[in-house]
Amino acid sequence: MILAIDQGTTGSRAFVFSEQGAPLASAYSEFTQHFPQPGWVEHDAAEIWTVTERVCREALADAGVTGEDLKAIGITNQRETSVAWSRSTGEPLSRAIVWQDRRTAEACDGLIADGHEGLVRDRTGLVIDAYFSGTKFAWMIEHGGVEPGQDLAFGTIDAWLLFKLTGEHATDLSNASRTMLLDIRSLQWDAELCELLGVPIESLPEPMPTACEFGRCTLFGGSVPVTAMVGDQQAALYGQACHTPGEAKNTYGTGSFLLQNAGGNAVVTPGLITTIGWADSDATTYALESSIFVTGSAIQWLRDGLQIIESAAESEELARSLDGNDGVYFVPALAGLGSPHWDPYARGTIVGLTRGTGKAHIARAALEAVAYQVADAVAAQSRASAQALPELRVDGGMTANSWLMQFQTDVLCVPVVVPELADTTVLGAAYMAGVSAGLWTSQDVRQMWNESRRYEPQMSPDNAASLLGEWADAVERSKGWARP
Ligand code: ADP
Repeated sequence: MILAIDQGTTGSRAFVFSEQGAPLASAYSEFTQHFPQPGWVEHDAAEIWTVTERVCREALADAGVTGEDLKAIGITNQRETSVAWSRSTGEPLSRAIVWQDRRTAEACDGLIADGHEGLVRDRTGLVIDAYFSGTKFAWMIEHGGVEPGQDLAFGTIDAWLLFKLTGEHATDLSNASRTMLLDIRSLQWDAELCELLGVPIESLPEPMPTACEFGRCTLFGGSVPVTAMVGDQQAALYGQACHTPGEAKNTYGTGSFLLQNAGGNAVVTPGLITTIGWADSDATTYALESSIFVTGSAIQWLRDGLQIIESAAESEELARSLDGNDGVYFVPALAGLGSPHWDPYARGTIVGLTRGTGKAHIARAALEAVAYQVADAVAAQSRASAQALPELRVDGGMTANSWLMQFQTDVLCVPVVVPELADTTVLGAAYMAGVSAGLWTSQDVRQMWNESRRYEPQMSPDNAASLLGEWADAVERSKGWARP
């Protein structure tokens, strides 16, 4: 059996999978979010470890097994969240700085003003943004009371859990590629970038392939190898069996993450993020990634902010009640625009209002905007990779909205496919750990992935193109609105 750990932003989940890849038992627990100042988000890494260890024990007990029955452990995790700990005591040296935390935005503005954008993009595949770990580590030393020196260990959540599970100080390449410190071609920490950002290279964990033996865990009985560690979005790409270049998945949650398998080519394109999908000792698979900040949270805003719907599901009924959008477009740039525009000064905009506009139009426009944003990201990625998308595999909370999924299919003009097992992130970690441990082949994994529903395009391509054209005009009107 395989124990798969999904350490997420709001909680930790553990799953026990059978030899056939079927989920046997799972356990979940939330942990505390700390918001000490506006724009700051922190986690207590000690609490993350306590909660994670507990859910592992609960899932194992529920499945009636111990470590002796496990072939391997796989870990997937919230990415970019940064931890500092003492190698000697094994205790955190400060609160973890979470991916959502914006405290290093000014430091990033400084790096951009000093002209380092090209260097960072070429070496790391990333845009300079407070989202990534590098400036968070630097902040801990500069402002957070963390002392550099031999005892200091830095790492993202994968490395922290590995250290607690096995005593090793290593990270995997998919997580390392989210730090702004990794050279994504040499697969090593980049000394020049570490120096530029002010991060002591000797405190960083050893970067290792996503699939390899990271260490052995004796906490649950027996001695179980940790054979895979992988960031959550890359795990979902693997769990959706997007193993061939060009295949892509989109996760529709609070925001959305579109990842497309880019094969062995680390192609770097302005506006897109190039990230490491996964790697073993022979090969590295890259992925193009688009981060869309506001999709599901626009529906939350209709419910909690505007209060024009009572539940997220009601947006579907309202959208269906209209034959068309009557020219109303909602650009949900409520937190600026991410890929492919990267405009922090864009703001939410609703255009095309008339006396006949009602709440159904607003709800429909919010759902349409989800689909348009994904379509824009798909178009940018297809241009960059010169790979047409064969179909889009989807997961996340909004896939429950079948009107949205049909509209997505229509504007993309390719099928949208929902898998049978919705927990694609944890599945990805389990599959990768099983393959790495020699339990399965990647062919087996593709066979374990099954589709539950396929949407086929029904709208004419001309009609889709005209909607996307009007949407693009609306996006232009939202850009730069809050520029000082
Ligand atoms: P996360 O993992 O980011 O918390 P989920 O995958 O749980 O997100 O998805 C929740 C999001 O999906 C919420 O923002 C919610 O507004 C949206 N959502 C859930 N169900 C629907 C629905 N039927 N129609 C539209 N939006 C929905």
